[in-house]
Amino acid sequence: MFCTNCGTRNEPASNYCVQCQALLEKSAATTQNLQTGYNYNQGGYTNYGGYNNQVNTDALEKPITVGEWLITFLLLLIPIANIVLIFVWAFSGTAPKSKSNFFKAQLIIMAIGIGLSIILALFLPLLFFALY
Ligand SMILES: [Zn+2]
Repeated sequence: MFCTNCGTRNEPASNYCVQCQALLEKSAATTQNLQTGYNYNQGGYTNYGGYNNQVNTDALEKPITVGEWLITFLLLLIPIANIVLIFVWAFSGTAPKSKSNFFKAQLIIMAIGIGLSIILALFLPLLFFALY
């Protein structure tokens, strides 16, 4: 942070200027930091001391409404189109993050299911012929 009195750069944690001993104003220092591209609120503080100008867009994402989920699940009833839609929602980046995460997880579950059914389809007949 920079001293508002003499302009000397000081440690972010310090309360008094090392050069002129003036009381450092934190709000002024934050403005300086934003101008110089230095932001010490990057560690996920959303309201550190009440002077954070950084907006965390991830945290501000609106929740998906019940109506939107209803439409989503109705669309999933359409054969073939539902598979396309799952991939779109999971990977296009247009869907809200929580929705894309949901469908990524669903695709992983589907992949495991398909993998297991292939293994069973291959090994059950072998088991059948081995027994009889
Ligand atoms: Zn100073």
